[in-house]
Amino acid sequence: MKALVKAKPEQGLWLQDVPIPDIAHNEVLIKIIKTAICGTDVHIYNWDKWSQKTIPIPMHIGHEFVGTIEKTGSHVVDFKPGDLVSGEGHLVCGRCRNCLAGRRHLCRDTKGVGVNRPGAHAQYLAIPVTNVWYCDKTIPLDVLACFDPLGNATHTALSFDVLGEDVLITGAGPIGCMAAAIAKHAGARYVVVTDVNPYRLDLAKKAGATLTIDVTQQSIEQAQKELGMKEGFDVAMEMSGNPAALASILNNMCHGGKIALLGIMPDNTDIDWNKVVFNMLTIKGIYGREMYETWYKMNSMIQSGLDISPLITHTFDYTEFEKGFEAMRSGQSGKVILNWNK
Ligand code: NAD
Ligand code: ZN
Repeated sequence: MKALVKAKPEQGLWLQDVPIPDIAHNEVLIKIIKTAICGTDVHIYNWDKWSQKTIPIPMHIGHEFVGTIEKTGSHVVDFKPGDLVSGEGHLVCGRCRNCLAGRRHLCRDTKGVGVNRPGAHAQYLAIPVTNVWYCDKTIPLDVLACFDPLGNATHTALSFDVLGEDVLITGAGPIGCMAAAIAKHAGARYVVVTDVNPYRLDLAKKAGATLTIDVTQQSIEQAQKELGMKEGFDVAMEMSGNPAALASILNNMCHGGKIALLGIMPDNTDIDWNKVVFNMLTIKGIYGREMYETWYKMNSMIQSGLDISPLITHTFDYTEFEKGFEAMRSGQSGKVILNWNK
């Protein structure tokens, strides 16, 4: 089968023939219809420090996908060939305290599809049945291919009550824009989204942001005045990975405000702890998706009218993957889809 392989320890990915994966008794083989390119895939493409430490070579990558069940292992009874599925990209150990308690997203020994084991940018993918999500066929395939990052956005955006609250989102990447759409869908009053990239701010508007701010031009304090806000934001979501954005969040929260951190900061990023203490802020780190409460909620939100399709900006055939990665690397894109169904 064809797959996007990290074949050499340098920038790039290579479309290569690799064997169709074998499945264990508890695994399924999925025929991939579409994948989406994640920021993580771009890190691996770029061969940054994190990828050099983490990715074994050769390895085919990718973890955002939709496809159909091709084959099931001998112990799999709840899926059959032809079922439309997506899947959770984090494999958990099943034996640690949190796994045993059913808090699988808190597993201390998580492995990543397309990071620590062969991935989804391929014609077939093998994963454990416990990672498979049965899809609603009425949801567009492009949207289903984005359930993994939509899950990051959902996990973050629903971490704190946003109904009737004023929400600040720093970073209008695909996940920040999805979070803006979710916060609006979940009943927030104002959803203010910041970025430094006008293309991305435009996407945030399309996602339903009340106000977008280019922080190179305007401050969040000014935006608060414009909206007539007096006491600061009730909830913030950090989705840029930029320390300046985190600092700006701390400067713009109401007392008792709640902050969810998804963006991955550089090592040893400082923050002003006295703002946290004196303003009595709550900070929560977010990694991945809750299994499977996040999947349940995002599915229901899509079924009840949440629309993320304006955030899917490019689609390519898998043979044109270079164009897809170029669009992602340029910052002039939302989600980029690759079609594998030939
Ligand atoms: P992205 O890189 O596409 O988007 C980040 C956005 O932040 C960009 O549009 C960038 O222009 C913007 N930005 C840069 N500096 C800024 C600043 N000072 N203020 C406001 N915005 C600024 O990333 P994404 O795919 O949307 O993911 C969002 C973040 O979440 C990334 O940091 C990513 O690494 C992280 N992430 C975390 C998890 C997790 O499980 N914790 C999962 C996926 C992604
Ligand atoms: Zn575990």
